[in-house]
Amino acid sequence: MTDVSVPFRKASRLATQSVSEILRIGARAAEMRKAGLPVIVLGAGEPDFDTPPNVVEAAYAAMKAGETKYTALDGTPALKAAIIAKFRRDNGLEFTAREVTVCAGAKQVIFNALMATLDPGDEVIIPTPYWTTYSAMVDIAGGRAITIPCGAEAGFRLTAEQLEAAITPKTRWLMLNSPSNPSGAAYRPEDYQPLLEVLERHPQVWLMSDEIYEHIVYDGFRPVTPAALAPWVRARTLIVNGVSKAYAMTGWRIGYGAGPAELIAAMAVVQSQSTSNPCSIAQAAAVEALNGPQDYIAERTESFRERRDLVVDALNAVPGITCRRPEGAFYAFASCAGLIGAHTPDGQVIDSDRALCSWLLETAHVAMVPGAAFGLSPYFRVSYATSKADLTEAMARVTAACATLVRQG
Ligand code: PLP
Repeated sequence: MTDVSVPFRKASRLATQSVSEILRIGARAAEMRKAGLPVIVLGAGEPDFDTPPNVVEAAYAAMKAGETKYTALDGTPALKAAIIAKFRRDNGLEFTAREVTVCAGAKQVIFNALMATLDPGDEVIIPTPYWTTYSAMVDIAGGRAITIPCGAEAGFRLTAEQLEAAITPKTRWLMLNSPSNPSGAAYRPEDYQPLLEVLERHPQVWLMSDEIYEHIVYDGFRPVTPAALAPWVRARTLIVNGVSKAYAMTGWRIGYGAGPAELIAAMAVVQSQSTSNPCSIAQAAAVEALNGPQDYIAERTESFRERRDLVVDALNAVPGITCRRPEGAFYAFASCAGLIGAHTPDGQVIDSDRALCSWLLETAHVAMVPGAAFGLSPYFRVSYATSKADLTEAMARVTAACATLVRQG
């Protein structure tokens, strides 16, 4: 009989990759819930709102109209037109259809761009804390992620000096994400300007600007895309955006990119030989999201703002924790430096952000993600895209648990 237990060998490009820590924490929380424990998960990267009804209706109408076949490879003409109108409306930028691509989520926009541009050993500069997927994708595409720590004292923003020091002849991209996952920090024009002065001196370095949280900003913050700050920046910038966060459409998988036509064409080759067009029905829904009423975005953002303040105020009241008030997105990224070295009532030592998060999950039943998962310690990320009642309860539990810690000195 033929042996069916054939050993599996995975590709070396996956040697350093695994499913994300966020998923692992989510799985542990689900396990605890199944065992009857009242776990509150503050780990989700998606709005808790529903997709707006007009968007759902548009999808239904598209299905009934037979829009269920392959579409143009990187976006229907209708969706590209809606994206072009969005850039004109929100960013004051003009693009042609050849400068726009539509993919299965912003995630695929980034992946296509890296696959289309990186040769082995090419370097990509990523300010830290970063969305973990960035460095994983760079690795998979054969590049080298060059991470630069940008802590709370720097407003979680990269400085011109750090950028200059990190650039080498092999640097292909600088990846910026404003507002940021996980820090919520956002760049103002005066934060971009010194970075652009550095980039101008290094024409081999392109800018990937992930603006997926563009609409979720607080206290009158006005988001700008660096591509709008000078024509030469636009000529080497890929703007990454999508409908997942602003329109509560994470499951629909529509993201888009805008940049120079040669880059967009190269990205289309990657898409052509991997996934082909994104879902036809989701594309029709995205047309309605972008062209339809926009007023609910501000209402939802106001609700996120209330929750941001609830969480940030509660965290700052805990001795040993400090939390910068973020400008956008729906995450708070708190420093737990003051709790490192503390002892739990049963004698464990909290020696890292990972240890703190796992202790809080096990004892307070609140799931949060350690900064280590985003490349910067000792911090932890709280996603506040969940109900105020859950947030209030979670913060009360975290406060009570931390009060039992015996801190050093
Ligand atoms: N960029 C950032 C910074 C994100 O946090 C996420 C999702 O969590 C994405 C991109 C991907 O979004 P999409 O759902 O469009 O793939």
